[in-house]
Amino acid sequence: MQKDPFIKSLQDGRNVWLDGKKIDITKDENFTGTLAAISELFAMFGDPKLRDKVGYLSPKTMEYVHSAFYVPESYEDLLKRRTAFEIWSQSTDGVMSRLSDYARSRLTGWYASREDYRAFDKAFPDKIRSYYEEARDRHLFLSLVQRDPQINRSDSQLKNIEDLGLLRITKKTSDGVFLSGAKMIGTASPYSNDIIVYPVGHLKEEHKPLAHMLIVAAHSPGLHLVCRESCAATPPNKADAPLSASYDEMDALLLFDNVFVPWERVLLYDNPEAIAKINTDPVSNSLAYHQAIVRLLNKLEFVTAIGFEIAEAIGADGYLHVQEKLGELIMQVETIRALVIASEREGSLNPYNTFVPNFTYIQTARNLGPKYYPRALEILQLIGAGGFIQLPSSLQDFQGPLSSLLQKYLVGATVDAEKKTKLFKLAWDLVGSPLGSRHELYERFYAGDPIRNIAVQYSTYDKQHLQERIQKYLQ
Ligand SMILES: Cc1cc2nc3c(=O)[nH]c(=O)nc-3n(C[C@H](O)[C@H](O)[C@H](O)COP(=O)(O)OP(=O)(O)OC[C@H]3O[C@@H](n4cnc5c(N)ncnc54)[C@H](O)[C@@H]3O)c2cc1C
Repeated sequence: MQKDPFIKSLQDGRNVWLDGKKIDITKDENFTGTLAAISELFAMFGDPKLRDKVGYLSPKTMEYVHSAFYVPESYEDLLKRRTAFEIWSQSTDGVMSRLSDYARSRLTGWYASREDYRAFDKAFPDKIRSYYEEARDRHLFLSLVQRDPQINRSDSQLKNIEDLGLLRITKKTSDGVFLSGAKMIGTASPYSNDIIVYPVGHLKEEHKPLAHMLIVAAHSPGLHLVCRESCAATPPNKADAPLSASYDEMDALLLFDNVFVPWERVLLYDNPEAIAKINTDPVSNSLAYHQAIVRLLNKLEFVTAIGFEIAEAIGADGYLHVQEKLGELIMQVETIRALVIASEREGSLNPYNTFVPNFTYIQTARNLGPKYYPRALEILQLIGAGGFIQLPSSLQDFQGPLSSLLQKYLVGATVDAEKKTKLFKLAWDLVGSPLGSRHELYERFYAGDPIRNIAVQYSTYDKQHLQERIQKYLQ
């Protein structure tokens, strides 16, 4: 697949708002780096050396499609999926989290277990099969949005659906449904082709109008994608913030103003029970979070490598406490790696012949992420210290009249001044830039409230086998 089809597909009149203006993201320099990075990933399907690693042949078109759509039937199939995630993560240093492979994996999970939903809605299996095939074969870039806008999180919040802007079906016709309300946050939604929309949690019977699962085209009239502040470094600062220049995955608030969705894209509606099942679907959860923890592993490896380089560059790597901190980074990496491997090794076949990675290990790695990543950044800060701040504002200073002085006084223990400045600027892009702060928040919250996620791990854990071990002392 060539670059152009993806970029071209975004020139569809979509309502993307940035800094008070409706923009064409394919022409706006805040999106140049991000879209170029994604185009390069999409181009891998046309590369004979890479296409077998990131993809497989669609049984329908016999063309290469992304392995996130691959329904695993064996341990080896899980490894195939992992390889594809690794290559895309490594290409973006784990910094682009939502490259569509997470949403594609969720879709693949629901598709694989589609028969479980026939009892809720007999049209569901056919609708999801048809959409899954279309998304796979047309290389659709997908994102996913679940949360309601943060207005009032008290227990009583669901009593006042309209005032709280909750996304609801306001009208049904023979052709489809109309939606009004809002959703937060749609990472990558400004450059998605379609957005999968459904609510999180367990809704009650009286909340039927909220209990839907829909595929919404990002260019739908009435859908407004309101971007957060851009973190993208644009010229002349690109070289000073290399990650911000290429990997600012944009987040947006989604405003729905009477948005029409045809019935074939309304996968479920007025169905709190089915939505609860969608949220807890073991295949969809395992396949999606398998991608998420492979990406986390790559990102932690990247941070760890930066930590090693910084410690060496300033000659601090010989100190015991610095070694202890670098060792902690290694432990983070190897713990997540071990959990990825364990989740695959201890995967199992479900009744629909899908080989599902073990969720306990995946959940453990996912729940460690919000603790590990902020700590990894803290370690970079503790080792780099004031070194992040003594840098000149731009690498261009090395071309100016102070060049020889900068070469002399910014030199490192093992590297020249320019290389050391590049290294510290790369690290600053993770620990101090707007992009870096956004990433820290992302790792804390992308999977939901980390506190409640860990509490769920406790409440859903099979505790009996542990509790039995102390029974002999209690007789
Ligand atoms: C960078 C970033 C990207 C994201 N991308 C996406 C995306 O692509 N798709 C998507 O769907 N979501 C996305 N999210 C949203 C994410 O899922 C939410 O941020 C997360 O679920 C937490 O919800 P919240 O932000 O509404 O926090 P809130 O739920 O408002 O929580 C705020 C505080 O109140 C506490 N609190 C609130 N309610 C309760 C309760 N009932 N019990 C106990 N404590 C409570 C929380 O613990 C927290 O301390 C993204 C978030 C971030 C930060």
